Amino acid sequence: MGLDDVLAAAAGINWQALGERSLCDACLGRLVGKAGHGFANPERGRAVREAHRVLPGTACWLCEGLLDEVPKFADLVAAKLGEWDHATFLVGSKIDLELAAREESLWVELGATQGELVKNEINREVGKLVAARTGKGVDFARPDVTAIVDTPYDVVEVEVAPLFLYGRYRKLSREIPQTRWPCRRCRGKGCDHCGGKGKMYETSVEEIVAGEVMKQTGGTGHALHGMGREDVDALMLGNGRPFVVEISRPRRRLVDVAAVEDGVNRSGIVEVESLRPSTRDEVVRLKEDRADKTYRARIRFAVPLEPAKVKEGLAALAAARIAQRTPTRVSHRRSDRVRHRALRDVELLRADGREAEVLVRAEAGTYVKEALHGDGGRTEPSLAGLTGVPCEVVALDVVRIHDTG
Ligand SMILES: [Zn+2]
Ligand SMILES: [Zn+2]
Repeated sequence: MGLDDVLAAAAGINWQALGERSLCDACLGRLVGKAGHGFANPERGRAVREAHRVLPGTACWLCEGLLDEVPKFADLVAAKLGEWDHATFLVGSKIDLELAAREESLWVELGATQGELVKNEINREVGKLVAARTGKGVDFARPDVTAIVDTPYDVVEVEVAPLFLYGRYRKLSREIPQTRWPCRRCRGKGCDHCGGKGKMYETSVEEIVAGEVMKQTGGTGHALHGMGREDVDALMLGNGRPFVVEISRPRRRLVDVAAVEDGVNRSGIVEVESLRPSTRDEVVRLKEDRADKTYRARIRFAVPLEPAKVKEGLAALAAARIAQRTPTRVSHRRSDRVRHRALRDVELLRADGREAEVLVRAEAGTYVKEALHGDGGRTEPSLAGLTGVPCEVVALDVVRIHDTG
């Protein structure tokens, strides 16, 4: 049984080496804390004290009374955690370095091999009391909040897990970016370059969505993780782009998603749907997704072109393996290399003199504008090259994201 394991472990310890030092029941029991299940360390300690005639003293040489402070720590933690909405929590602690060193050297002197660290005991016992007091559960893997007890100073710091919400957005404006775009020159402080705003655009999908969430949750910051992104001047239409919005240090964690959707949709420039709770793991999956996208492009040719010629060019383009050097428009921030992509499907919607409108389904990572206008020969082949007529892309919108979600 369990107590036999405790006593067997205690039998392997050189109790003579303890000498005059007295230990409290908890510290005594913790020397064999990994032996026997279902006992508290003071119970282990009392059994060991009796079996090995370890005398009790007035003060504990090891913890110097720290373990008597557990109920006080639990009060401090419960009060601090009460400021934050949470379903689950975890307790961590900082222990006086000299105490930790005494514990380590005692294990060596006594030959104790199944000891438990005082830090673990503090964390667990404070956690138990807090759980009993608050009715909230301990979660070791992904707690909503973590209380760190600085035991020498009676101070509790709270780490708050970010809040994640998944959804899909549509961007109905050609004037806002997906994410907040801080001013490069002043890095957010505000300067002449950004008109004192600290950012290059008045708002963004991120700010509109996060703003609505934070009306409910509070929080100190936000981020938006998209499954890819569209250009600022592109609309995001159709089934919307999957994203996860992240809120830092939320005061409240329960979100009325319908109210968030209403608030965002009232902006008139962004719409969201399918909002639900999410996790950091989903952010990783989202970032790795290589979904095809379908675009609608409006093209203007240098000279009028027969619809049949446009169709012919598009068919050849769809059949080709396209080699794309890093486009001129992004070459200032990305290294120059050649990537190969394919268009899955191309459909001519309308051709009228110099204007044409096409639907293009492209593999993830395709520079679609460049596949059409050729980027001065940096993309080969291109619609411009295949038709022999230069063209520009006057509008490019995403109309479908072909993810599996
Ligand atoms: Zn002690
Ligand atoms: Zn600025």
